[in-house]
Amino acid sequence: MEYSSTRDSVRRQYCSSEVLIKGLADDGGLFVPVDFPAVTFSGRENYIDMATAIFRQFLTDFADNDIQTIVNQTYRDFNPSVLHKINDTLIFLELWHGKTSAFKDVALQLLPRLLTQALKNSHEDAEVVILVATSGDTGKAALEGFANVPQTKIAVFYPQDGVSDTQKQQMVTQEGDNVAVFAIKGNFDDAQTAVKKILNDSDYLKSNSNVIFSSANSINWGRLMPQLVYYFSSYFSVANGDEKVSFIVPTGNFGDILAGYYAKKMGLPVDKLICASNKNNVLTDFIQTGVYSVKRDFYKTISPSMDILVSSNLERLLFDVYDGDANAISGLMNDLKETGQFKIGQSQLEKIQETFIADFATEEETKQAIQTAYEQYHYLIDTHTAVAFAVYEKHPLENKTVILSTASPYKFPQNVYQAIFKEDTTDYATALYEKTGVEIPKNIKELQNKKVIHTKVIEKGMIKNALNDFLIRR
Ligand SMILES: *Cc1c(COP(=O)(O)O)cnc(C)c1O
Repeated sequence: MEYSSTRDSVRRQYCSSEVLIKGLADDGGLFVPVDFPAVTFSGRENYIDMATAIFRQFLTDFADNDIQTIVNQTYRDFNPSVLHKINDTLIFLELWHGKTSAFKDVALQLLPRLLTQALKNSHEDAEVVILVATSGDTGKAALEGFANVPQTKIAVFYPQDGVSDTQKQQMVTQEGDNVAVFAIKGNFDDAQTAVKKILNDSDYLKSNSNVIFSSANSINWGRLMPQLVYYFSSYFSVANGDEKVSFIVPTGNFGDILAGYYAKKMGLPVDKLICASNKNNVLTDFIQTGVYSVKRDFYKTISPSMDILVSSNLERLLFDVYDGDANAISGLMNDLKETGQFKIGQSQLEKIQETFIADFATEEETKQAIQTAYEQYHYLIDTHTAVAFAVYEKHPLENKTVILSTASPYKFPQNVYQAIFKEDTTDYATALYEKTGVEIPKNIKELQNKKVIHTKVIEKGMIKNALNDFLIRR
């Protein structure tokens, strides 16, 4: 399997090891596989079998044994795909039973292992420096995945006031000799833009040529590929291979839902993909009108991992509906950079709308959805999953629908508690447990007793300086 960049009109080809190590193409584009091979299952395979079969299609420069070993190590003790059936047609897919209680673990427990093997495959001895911009969950999941992994360093940048208390506590207490965590005075888009800029700054990269910079954000193919598997595994747990199933995905950077689109391209009988946004509804407008515009206010919401205006992975979808026309994609991305918006063609919009439906939930609707899920189904959902559930209630579908549940409610205990019980308290996680009986995940329970290690707060213009200090640190 070869890969090319969404912005490269001569279509230079890369193998998967190169793609995993680089993260982002030199021209600023994203790596995409040149095709999506059909994969079919009988439905009797387990998660590990499905993951192995799918990854073998995409990692053709990896030895089969190595893929098998990596998959076993990652998913032996962690079943990423746990179903919660409300009734025959509505099913929640709980993707958050990993180490940090967010769906990001599905990919970020695997990625360091893939990267280590990719370095071996390429006979590459240089150290890889992973840069991460996070709206909350990626940061912790990436830190947990990369902590103390040989031949790697990881630096995480999160918006100082843009993550939940639990998310922050998870990051600032991270142990490991090769990790750094910085709060920045800015929002997620500021962090993501700064990181992308560094990854594309050829002078900077040259002056640090002893290391390789890479990304653990969902712009890295190694983040997207693992997410294909749970569309297949959940599909075969609820349907028989003939009927169609729709998926509702609480969306931020468009990585999770894009994996569903790719699964459909690989032959999975997916009907609709419903893109659920919070009040930052830039994707709702785009999918409904074909105009993507970031000329709008940025809101901080109770679903912070979706507080994003520039959804990076949309570029991969555009590449697909423009049939791989890299010039067209470069043009659109340039429009976005220069004018703050772009508009796609009518036929491309129609192609998107064949599969995607989009809507959003206000803050009030999100809280209401948490309350409804608890009162009607005795089911506790987090604020992000609640955005998806609120959108489901506006667009109930005829066929089976899977709602992707992306975080444990205990990552956002205050908002969840207040939405249901309409009162304040001191220790929200404990109060939520006492009133609902739903267990607190162990990693979150243990947070209180952990020592705070990372306290640096930096201006958004100082990310490069902070990085330099970290790189010379021993
Ligand atoms: C990251 C995240 C999302 C958004 O996923 P994308 O792949 O960025 O669209 C939704 N919910 C939670 C809890 C997340 O951590």
